[in-house]
Amino acid sequence: MILPKSSRLTPEQIAEVTAIVSEFGCSIQPIVGAVRTIYAIVGDERDELMINRLEGLTYVERIDRIQSPFKLMDRRSDLASHRIAIGGVTLGEELAIIAGPCTIDPKNPNYFLETAAAVKEAGAHVIRGGVWKPRTNPYTFQGDSKSIEILMEASRLTGLPVDTEVMDEEQLQVALDAGVQMLQVGARNALNYSLLRSIGRAVAKRNTIVLLKRSLHMGTLSEFISAAEYIAAFGNPNVILCPRGTAPALDGYRNQPDESITPLLKEKTWAPVVVDPSHSVGKASYVSACALAAVAYGADGLCIEAHVEPSHGIGDDPKQAVTPGVLAAIIAQAKQIWSLRRSGVGGN
Ligand code: PEP
Ligand code: MN
Repeated sequence: MILPKSSRLTPEQIAEVTAIVSEFGCSIQPIVGAVRTIYAIVGDERDELMINRLEGLTYVERIDRIQSPFKLMDRRSDLASHRIAIGGVTLGEELAIIAGPCTIDPKNPNYFLETAAAVKEAGAHVIRGGVWKPRTNPYTFQGDSKSIEILMEASRLTGLPVDTEVMDEEQLQVALDAGVQMLQVGARNALNYSLLRSIGRAVAKRNTIVLLKRSLHMGTLSEFISAAEYIAAFGNPNVILCPRGTAPALDGYRNQPDESITPLLKEKTWAPVVVDPSHSVGKASYVSACALAAVAYGADGLCIEAHVEPSHGIGDDPKQAVTPGVLAAIIAQAKQIWSLRRSGVGGN
């Protein structure tokens, strides 16, 4: 929809606008109002270049788009009935729990294996663990490819699928070759469109699920959903959105908690939402409240960092991981909130 600065476009302006949109297979339909005439773009109006050229015209106030920029992930898309299932749960039908340490310690694999067994016991459906880590400080532990074996060993021992972050094509290939069932795109890479494309291409003919974290610097919801569209565009729509707090941090929390965006996301996309309270608040003692709030806001699941002995963990675990006992308590309470929502108390 083209909204002119004046009450209507002149014949010359209409001719110019028509010439632009016709290059993209569209036409213009004036809608005459009492004080102003606006102009509908008839046809596929998603082409960014067409919109940019129209927005560049001095006599155009703004362009309102009616079609969604994310045609696959849009809640009005044919994929809206698509369901993602993992670890025995179907997202949307039961609260899904992803849990495990931030980082696998290759020198002490038993911490990861014991934690995997303990989080399963606590009720997790997917085990998480970082093989490679995006670290702010280049001199801290960056992860180790050898940990992929520990990750898959945990999957074999527990019978549960595993989730790990990949940051480049090499890691992506190692993870897929090893049989990782859920790939994580981290907050730092959620706007790395070439990585998103590589992942989309690599999982196109697989059942792999992608957990897409919200970037630290993502503002609009469309930006988040469009990142998911990058992956789905290659043919595998198994993308889960994961709010995990954004920048700048809220004084006292590691990030700006964003579990409240779930209902807004659900107005726009059918994609399931699994909230990560751990990175959002960044401290074990705040995780429970954030997790429960997330479920109250309508999250389909939670991704929680947990460790059998947080103080012996590496990466985020000493400050952020909850113990399996606390995880079990969070899951029990979260399920109650989930059931209340299901029964209609507090909306959908
Ligand atoms: C993580 O899951 O351990 C992690 C690094 O996440 P994020 O990308 O959200 O910081
Ligand atoms: Mn972490």
